[in-house]
Amino acid sequence: MILAAFDIDGTLTKTTWVDGECYTRALKLEFGVTDINTTWSDYPHTTDLGITCEIFKQAFNRPPEKREILKLIQRFMSLLRETHAADPQHFVEITGAAGILQRLSSDSKLKVSIATGCWHKPAVFKLGCAKISTQGIPLSTSDQAFNREDIVLNSIAKARDHYEVDQFSKIVSIGDSVWDVKTARTLGLPFIGVGDSAHLTDLGARDAVEDYRDQEGFIKLLEEAEIPDVRQRV
Ligand SMILES: [Mg+2]
Repeated sequence: MILAAFDIDGTLTKTTWVDGECYTRALKLEFGVTDINTTWSDYPHTTDLGITCEIFKQAFNRPPEKREILKLIQRFMSLLRETHAADPQHFVEITGAAGILQRLSSDSKLKVSIATGCWHKPAVFKLGCAKISTQGIPLSTSDQAFNREDIVLNSIAKARDHYEVDQFSKIVSIGDSVWDVKTARTLGLPFIGVGDSAHLTDLGARDAVEDYRDQEGFIKLLEEAEIPDVRQRV
């Protein structure tokens, strides 16, 4: 039984830009924080919670309080809703994403989970906007963890429980960014990149797809996927 663990932004949905934009505006509106570093890969932990903690450390020399995180998520959500109402094109799926989740879910030898650095509410909202059904798919988010490794490990644990599987024969991480490649390498997980193949290969991914139009080809890749190459610079 193979488990395919998908990231969201840039992997299932074309929401990377809108996510960063709304998050940055929410920080400014709620806490007056401006001029933050938006090269997300520079942060020690590239997750919503990890980035917020680092920004609070730099701006206020302390971690965010729980109520501040809740306020930030609330504002972030209202900006996502406004932006979606104005231009839903910022919230579309990566071509074939909804279809591949359905296809994998209907195969008795394959299981699906979602492991995202987003907080739960924005994650579910973006997937909904892109018309990607997550019914029956375990979702692990930054609500439960600070770093990406723990989010992926939570996702695997949730999937074991949810599908009542003691041990998967193979767990493949699917992502689009440098931090996804790093996390897969750290955890020793086979990886499939989504997006710019040349860039992903340069980061160490051995396999990459542009989108999910070729369902059978993607399933074959799941069977063949390998741990990212250690020779590459990440
Ligand atoms: Mg991503």
